[in-house]
Amino acid sequence: MMGIMDFIEAQRRVNILKELIKENNEAYYVNDAPKITDFEYDELFRELKRLENEYPLLITPDSPTQKVGDKISDGFKEYKHKYRLYSLDNSNNYEDLRKWYERVIKEFTIQNELELVVELKIDGLSCALSYEKGILKIGATRGNGIVGENITDNIKSIKGIPQKLSKPLNLEVRGEVYMPISSFEKLNEENIKRGLREFANPRNAAAGSLRQLDATVTAKRDLHFFAYTAISEEENLFKTHSEALALLKELGFNVNPNYKVVKGINPVIEQCEIWSTERFNQDYATDGMVIKINDLAKQNELGYTSRAPKWATAFKFPPEEVWTRLEGIELSIGKTGAVTPVALLTPVQLAGTIVKRASLHNFDEINRLRINIGNEVLIKKAAEIIPKVIKKREEEDLGIYETPKYCPVCNSPLIKPEGEVVLYCSNSKDCPAQIQGKIEFWASKEAMDIDGVGETIVEKLLEKKLISDFADLYKLTVEDFMQLDLIKEKSADNLYNAIQASKTPSMTKFLTALSIKHIGKETADLIANEYPTIDTIKTATEEELTKIDGIGEKAAKSIIDFFKDENNITILNKLQEYGVTPKGSAVEKISNIFEGKTFVITGTLSQPRNNFEEKIKQLGGKVSSSVSKKTSYVLAGENPGSKFDKATQLGVIILTERDFDLLAQRNNDEKKF
Ligand code: AMP
Ligand code: ZN
Repeated sequence: MMGIMDFIEAQRRVNILKELIKENNEAYYVNDAPKITDFEYDELFRELKRLENEYPLLITPDSPTQKVGDKISDGFKEYKHKYRLYSLDNSNNYEDLRKWYERVIKEFTIQNELELVVELKIDGLSCALSYEKGILKIGATRGNGIVGENITDNIKSIKGIPQKLSKPLNLEVRGEVYMPISSFEKLNEENIKRGLREFANPRNAAAGSLRQLDATVTAKRDLHFFAYTAISEEENLFKTHSEALALLKELGFNVNPNYKVVKGINPVIEQCEIWSTERFNQDYATDGMVIKINDLAKQNELGYTSRAPKWATAFKFPPEEVWTRLEGIELSIGKTGAVTPVALLTPVQLAGTIVKRASLHNFDEINRLRINIGNEVLIKKAAEIIPKVIKKREEEDLGIYETPKYCPVCNSPLIKPEGEVVLYCSNSKDCPAQIQGKIEFWASKEAMDIDGVGETIVEKLLEKKLISDFADLYKLTVEDFMQLDLIKEKSADNLYNAIQASKTPSMTKFLTALSIKHIGKETADLIANEYPTIDTIKTATEEELTKIDGIGEKAAKSIIDFFKDENNITILNKLQEYGVTPKGSAVEKISNIFEGKTFVITGTLSQPRNNFEEKIKQLGGKVSSSVSKKTSYVLAGENPGSKFDKATQLGVIILTERDFDLLAQRNNDEKKF
């Protein structure tokens, strides 16, 4: 029986899933930069569907299961689709495919097996094309299925889309725009050379290329099109899906030749099996198979759910894994000296790209898995960008990989602090890798955000011995920059100005930028709340620091160590000398009504978070970045994150922005809490 607790638990999970899916829709569709793999996305989606099936009360109209994902970005004109574009339901196992078929069959009173078309699911972006009397009038992206982006100009340079059909038909055509894998790899190589970002996969490259506001940029990219749907109001033009595909081909479209008309579900599964390996022999990325009822009259009879046709379904290929040889282990040294092992692999095709490097976790894990150089290892695409090494072939034992003892860059001994799995280069003062890493991080977006000062510039500055730490950036002159190759006066000016403009950071930014071990932005923020100046932190004790909610022993120790180190003190003194001083975060208190109360803020509020933080501090309260039993209130805006969850679990009072205002107001009136 369903208990109320189960329901509440389900409701909580459903809310989280919705947020996660929405967030990833945005990353995927609007920014063309996914944060999770398609497989992980589908898992979230399926879990949400399952819960909604179980608890239909939880279905809301804004649920991602009720609509098609993409959003429209600014810049293109909206286009209202003539016929709605749907998504596809999908499964990742044959049992679900059989169930789909059984459900479909029940709707019809037929004796024989149903005729189905199995085709490849091309991993690109769907587009709708509108032809009038055989002339291409409009090309549009799917958008939310009802309204898309008008990309007619961009469409015109895509191979496989005729501007004029071989017959003067009124026709709506749909298909997938994609970039061949070989062109995607070439584009990425060029982008790397030019210092531009790499695309994560061919689909993102296609999306990024197609949705260019400047259509001439699109025209330079190698985009192709496979047509897979035709819609016509003329009767008798075609009666089945396979006839439509044949017509599309005749009219001049590229149609993927690898489709098959079959009877019943068994041959469908056979095709899925064949293509789960055969797909790697194609120069385009596929993420599954699409199964459609061939007879259009039957399609119409079945119709659609709010999101997808009932007459079609997709089979998604499992996440991709492949065996290859571990040729070497590269040690990469981070800004705090942390040594990360990177697997160098015999190049191998994985998920549509060639993989040469993969993550190897840490040295303990390498030994636990008994992985050694020369082993054949299984790699898996986890996050789309960096694949991971999962295991070695069980039967192949090449002994234990000897954990390195010396830094590959400066040859200093590596040390492993107690209670940590990570190895560090012990030479924090002079290790060139650490020095460079620290300077790059100082200038990075996360820290001081100095425009233009990236890897290449830092490398050149170090090479010419113009700097030896990040404080030195502030003594550089325009002339110094002009000494570097390829830097013209204009960019030298820009670099100089950007550096000078960064002299009064917030305390949080400043602390973050120092590259103190275990002190990221969040922790830096907690410390900045309590210690408004560098001088006050310098004299803080470990005991005082650990009293701050959210600061553990490790972080506290690391701060103490940092400010004890002479080299660091020299750098801090230099910064002061060059006029780099944090603004300080001290807020003037105007009352004590929030005294002893700790607030945690999550989600998007009507004003920047800082305003709320300031208000809380003004009223004598504290702001912390993580929820614990000590938290008095969680102020939750829209799309709250995991902190909201934690608060519900711990029974912490959750305030909406309105609650907060009332509380602050009431307390102001009563002057008492
Ligand atoms: P999904 O994005 O997972 O909901 O899957 C639906 C999408 O699959 C459609 O919007 C198309 O972009 C894409 N797709 C790729 N190949 C095909 C195909 N052969 N038939 C239908 N849709 C396809
Ligand atoms: Zn070193």
